Amino acid sequence: MQDPVEILQRIEQLVERVKRRDSYGELLARGNVVVALSDIQDPDKWRADLRRQARADRIKIRTGVNEGLAYALLAGGETSARRQEGDRYRAAMREAIPRAAVLRHQPAFLLHDGDETVCGCERCSAVGLVDAGTNRLIGGALFEEDCPQEDPPALTAATMVFGDASHGA
Ligand SMILES: [Zn+2]
Repeated sequence: MQDPVEILQRIEQLVERVKRRDSYGELLARGNVVVALSDIQDPDKWRADLRRQARADRIKIRTGVNEGLAYALLAGGETSARRQEGDRYRAAMREAIPRAAVLRHQPAFLLHDGDETVCGCERCSAVGLVDAGTNRLIGGALFEEDCPQEDPPALTAATMVFGDASHGA
């Protein structure tokens, strides 16, 4: 059983972090970032800022401006670091999502940043945190307490991809 207070604090921190995420953070987290030109004052400066930060991190990116939009992409597609992050994420979710399903929750993805993901039940207020990093953590009511709804849960995108208990995933 994870400390529920600590889990809620970590979820709040994650929400704050995602809210503050700037274009560069978005680029690293998602592999691409697109903004409306009306949302940035100077597209050349926006692109130069991203290229400068990427150079400092030794990351290759491509930037451009289209009609009304500026964008940046990680060059060369998936890096091995991103691929490993993806593998860790899927392994953690295959462990976490069936746990929520067996407790009758209908898990849905709410937020994702780096190795951390917040999931919530579609039919009650339970939330849970999955940290797929080195110290893997799966905690919160979603993964530890029964859903108050008595009838069997419907499949969700999460249980279809990562398995529900009835499929023994
Ligand atoms: Zn629930």
